Amino acid sequence: MLALHGKGVSNGIAIGRAYVLRRERLKIPEYVVPAELVENEVRRFLTAVESTRQELSGIRDHIPPDAPVEAASFIDTHLLILNDTMVSEAPIKDIRGNQWNAEFALKTQSDRLVAVFEAMEDPYLRNKKVDVTQVVERVLRHLLNPDGRGDEPLPEELEGRVVVANDLAPADTVALKNKGITAFITNLGGPISHTAILSRSLGIPAIVAVHGATRYIDNDDELIVDGKRGVLFVAPDRIVVAEYEKRARKIARLQHELEALRTSEAVTRDGIAVQLLANIELPEDMAGVHQVLAGGIGLYRTEFLFMNRKTPPDEEEQFAAYVKVIRELPGRPVTIRTLDLGADKRADIDLPTTAVNPALGLRAVRLCLQELALFKVQLRAILRASAFGNVRLMIPMLSNLDEISRVVELVREIQEELRRNGIGFDANIPIGGMIEVPAAAVSADLFAAHLDFLSIGTNDLIQYTLAIDRVDDTVNYLYDPLHPSVLRLIAMTIDAADKQGIPVAMCGEMAGDTRYTRLLLGLGLREFSMHPSALLEIKKIVRESSVADLKNHSAQVMGARDARTLQALVDHMNGDGDQAAGE
Ligand code: PEP
Ligand code: MG
Repeated sequence: MLALHGKGVSNGIAIGRAYVLRRERLKIPEYVVPAELVENEVRRFLTAVESTRQELSGIRDHIPPDAPVEAASFIDTHLLILNDTMVSEAPIKDIRGNQWNAEFALKTQSDRLVAVFEAMEDPYLRNKKVDVTQVVERVLRHLLNPDGRGDEPLPEELEGRVVVANDLAPADTVALKNKGITAFITNLGGPISHTAILSRSLGIPAIVAVHGATRYIDNDDELIVDGKRGVLFVAPDRIVVAEYEKRARKIARLQHELEALRTSEAVTRDGIAVQLLANIELPEDMAGVHQVLAGGIGLYRTEFLFMNRKTPPDEEEQFAAYVKVIRELPGRPVTIRTLDLGADKRADIDLPTTAVNPALGLRAVRLCLQELALFKVQLRAILRASAFGNVRLMIPMLSNLDEISRVVELVREIQEELRRNGIGFDANIPIGGMIEVPAAAVSADLFAAHLDFLSIGTNDLIQYTLAIDRVDDTVNYLYDPLHPSVLRLIAMTIDAADKQGIPVAMCGEMAGDTRYTRLLLGLGLREFSMHPSALLEIKKIVRESSVADLKNHSAQVMGARDARTLQALVDHMNGDGDQAAGE
C-alpha cells in the first residue's frame, strides 16, 4: 500500500480503480522555413488556430445543461486567450521575421507569456499561465496532426473510475461530466484551479498537487481518495478499505438524513426560529437553492454578472438577472449586494484599480462612489426589481458613515426619478450594510442607527482584522475565525444590531461552517447565509441545539484567556461526535 498526499480541494470519499490520463509530451520540431514557403507556414498556423477555435466553440455549445456554470466561463476564458493577439498573431511575426516553423514560433511565444504570468504576485493571475499552456497545446496538436483533434479522445467507459492526470483542462472536465467518475487526482493545481472549482460544483472528491501521481499510479490500480484529508491510498490493505467503506457508508447515511431535513423548520429545541439563507453569484445558482429549500437569498454577489466580459451589463440585463431570482422566491427575502469589484474579484471591464494594495484600495462601495455612472445603473436596476418581491439592498465594505449617507442619497434620488416616470419600486426597500472592516464592527452601533439591517462578512472581516490577505497561501495558516479579536467584533456587531432593534445576519464562510454554528447561535446570531450545499448540515445542528444552553457556553468561550482553552470550549460545545459527523 502506498499513501500519497496532496491538497484536498473537494470533500468526500471515493473507492475505485484508476484511469490514468497520460498525455504524451508534445515533441516540438524546430526548423527554418525556406523564404518562399513562409506565407504557407503562416497559413498553416492560422488554420490550426481556426480549427482550435471551432473545436472550443463546439465544446462550449454542447455543455450539458446540468454542468456547473463555471464550466462555460472557463471555456470562454480559453476562447478569449485564443483570440488574444498575443497568442493568435504574435507568433506570425516570428514565422515571418525569423523564418521559424509555426510550432516553434508558437511554443516560444507561449514560453514568453508563461514567464510573464509566473512573475506575477497575484496567485489568481499566476494561475492563468495554466490556461495559456492548455490553449497553446491544443493549437500545437492541430499543427502536429492537421486532420486530428486538439485533444486526445477519452475512453467511453469510465463509470466508477478515479481519473488521474497531470492536470485537467476545463474542456476535459466538461467531457468527463456525465461519465460517472468518482474522483479526480492531479499532479498539479491548487485550491483555485479549474479542477478544484469544478469538482466542488460537481460534488466529486478531488485532490490536487499530488506530485508524481501519474508516475506512481497505474491504470486499474485500486485507489481510495479522501478528499477532505487530501490523502490517497494506492493498492490499499483490506483493513484500510474496510475502514473507508465504513466512513463512506456513514457519509451516505448522513446525506440521507440531511435530505429528509429539506422541508423541516430551522427551529432550535427551545423554539427559536433561525433563518437559513443562501449565497448566490449568478441566477444559474438557483437550482442549488431550490434543492435545499433555502429561506431566501442572504447574499447575491452581483459582481459576478460583470465578470468574463469586456463591457458591463446594461440596466435591462441587470434588471432581468435580479427579477429572475426574485420571481423564483415569491415572498422570500432576496438580498442584492451592490457591486463588490476589486481586490480578488476582478472584471475585464475598464475600471480604475489600485495596483499598490488592491485589498486596501478602490474596491466595492469605494469604487462605486467614484464610478457613479456605473453605480447608478445598478441601483436603478435593483430598485426597479424591488417592485417584484421582497428585495433588500446591501452595501459591501463600508468603513464610514459618510458612505452610507451617500448611497442612501443616491437611492432616494433614483427612487424620485422612477416615481416621476411612473416606474414601480418598493419605497420601503430595506438598506443594509456589510460589516467587513474592523472599523465598521467597532462602530457597529453608529452604523446600525443608519441602516435597516447588518450582515457580517467574515471572509473580509477576518482578513482585515488579522492583516492576512485571504488569497495569499503563505499566510493562510493565520486565518482564524476563532481569534478572540474576530469573535469580539462579531459579538459587538450582533449586540449593536440587537440594541438598535434591527436584524443582523452573517454571510461569510463562517456562517456555513458547522464548527461555528453553536457558538454563533449562543452569541445571538439568528440569520445565517451560506453556500446552499452547507445549508442542511447547518439546519441539522440548529434543530439539535438549545439556545439557552449555548448562551452560557458562548459566554465562557468569550472569556477564554488563551487559544487552547478557547478551542477546547468550542470543541466541547460541538460535542465529541460532531467532528466525525462533519466528514
Ligand atoms: C465576506 O467578505 O465575508 C463576504 C461574504 O463577501 P465576499 O466573500 O464576497 O467578499
Ligand atoms: Mg467581502
